[in-house]
Amino acid sequence: MADSIFGKIIRREIPADIIYEDELCLAFRDVNPRAPVHVLVVPKKTLLQLSAATDEDQSLLGHMLLAADKIAGQLGVGDAYRLVVNNGAGAGQTVFHLHLHLLAGRPFTWPPG
Ligand code: AMP
Repeated sequence: MADSIFGKIIRREIPADIIYEDELCLAFRDVNPRAPVHVLVVPKKTLLQLSAATDEDQSLLGHMLLAADKIAGQLGVGDAYRLVVNNGAGAGQTVFHLHLHLLAGRPFTWPPG
């Protein structure tokens, strides 16, 4: 399966500001933050995008959501955060390794741009 820059971060081949790790996922600060808190939560398993997930990935996806909430708690943003998944190039995905954007620390508008 195609590798990505996030695969290199997971394997510690390139540096990143890693703030969380468990057996299934890793979280690190986005290099181009769009909010005071901007963290990416990525599965260690290579999964190109959410629409490539299958029933087999159900518990992994739930695990990532719970990890994101745990990280938000650790960062002190409480329950004021936004999670974003850009699925596919047409929706703005640029790195093809599934990731949750955890954004916090400023007001957010709705609908998102
Ligand atoms: P997306 O556009 O949803 O695919 O998000 C990809 C995100 O990865 C963008 O917000 C980028 O700023 C971020 N990004 C790209 N390369 C790196 C890197 N080496 N370390 C941390 N974040 C990165």
